[in-house]
Amino acid sequence: MRRKPKHEILFLNGKRNGDESVAVTLIPGDGVGPEVIGAAVKVIEASGVRIEWDRQEAGAAALKRYGTPVPDALISSLRRTRIALKGPLETRVGEGYRSINVYLRKTFDLFANLRPTRSFPGVSTRFANVDLIVVRENTEDLYAGIEHQVTPGVVESVKIITARASTRIARFAFEFARRNDRKSVTAIHKANIMKLSDGLFLKCARRVAADYKDIKYSEQIVDAACMRLVIDPSSFDVLLLENLYGDIVSDLCAGLVGGLGMVPGANYGDRGAIFEAVHGTAPDIAGKGVANPVAAILSGAMLVEYLGHQEAALRIRAAVATVLRGRRVRTPDLGGKSSTDEVAAAIVRAMKHAASSSAHLAKPE
Ligand code: ATP
Repeated sequence: MRRKPKHEILFLNGKRNGDESVAVTLIPGDGVGPEVIGAAVKVIEASGVRIEWDRQEAGAAALKRYGTPVPDALISSLRRTRIALKGPLETRVGEGYRSINVYLRKTFDLFANLRPTRSFPGVSTRFANVDLIVVRENTEDLYAGIEHQVTPGVVESVKIITARASTRIARFAFEFARRNDRKSVTAIHKANIMKLSDGLFLKCARRVAADYKDIKYSEQIVDAACMRLVIDPSSFDVLLLENLYGDIVSDLCAGLVGGLGMVPGANYGDRGAIFEAVHGTAPDIAGKGVANPVAAILSGAMLVEYLGHQEAALRIRAAVATVLRGRRVRTPDLGGKSSTDEVAAAIVRAMKHAASSSAHLAKPE
């Protein structure tokens, strides 16, 4: 059995003492964003970590209010804090402005997207004990957004893969694996078809793998990997992927642990990070107060950990696990009837209850 990692971050922003308040940009986002981010903020505040939130609008909400999806105030806030907790932002399909999510990741060079995907006792799924780490390259591939019409009826979309970005993300994956006591890294690709681009990605991954002899390295073609993931997810550990495969495989992995409401995420750069759940704006349930806040709350735990508060992050995760294990308070996507706010309140209660029990236990006889 795998030893439990003590914590799960790569780039700590420096240890802080408990009383020091830190500025973090808060982007509630579109759709269910304000609901789940509101829940995450309540839980983070109840954990005792002091954060000075700088609330900023982006996406459709900002477009409506300021005439631009990326207001200057947002960019200067991010330049100042270099850390954000962010809700999903609307990106229209096949039209409209470019994805703001992609814009922010590229502008702040947040090259590594980390998505820990774990099952929780109490959430019924096909497999128990799923424990996968998706590491997705965040800055290039088809997400470079270089598209043009060659002639009417013919369009071209350019896939950019560089040795620099491929090496950097591979090193991130292996370094993460080593620091968190993970056993293997699997590079997922389609180099049988895209021999140059995916071939280069693999070449870089192999070169980095040679520096990490303690971690098993393997490769898998993306279609076969998808099949293997849904048959035997335990045969994977850390998954290393380019941008597009990473996006698609992340949602597949989310399906293994109860859906998009369950999986947190972080976008790390060398000098900052944006924390956001894997899910999008969920327009079908937005405004109804029933979105699952667990993914946003767990993204909040990753943020808290990044700020150097490992204990608080562990308390948040333990409280989420307690509430899910209890099966009583849960949102409709998990088969329950509770609202977003009820789930957040139950997690806050579980955290307080755990704190008072341990204080009680710690009392001298
Ligand atoms: P976007 O274009 O912003 O990515 P989308 O609709 O394509 O939005 P998601 O928003 O991720 O993709 O939603 C996909 C499905 O998952 C929807 O049915 C949605 O209701 C569900 N879903 C996503 N997030 C949550 C959540 N936090 N709680 C419950 N259901 C969710």
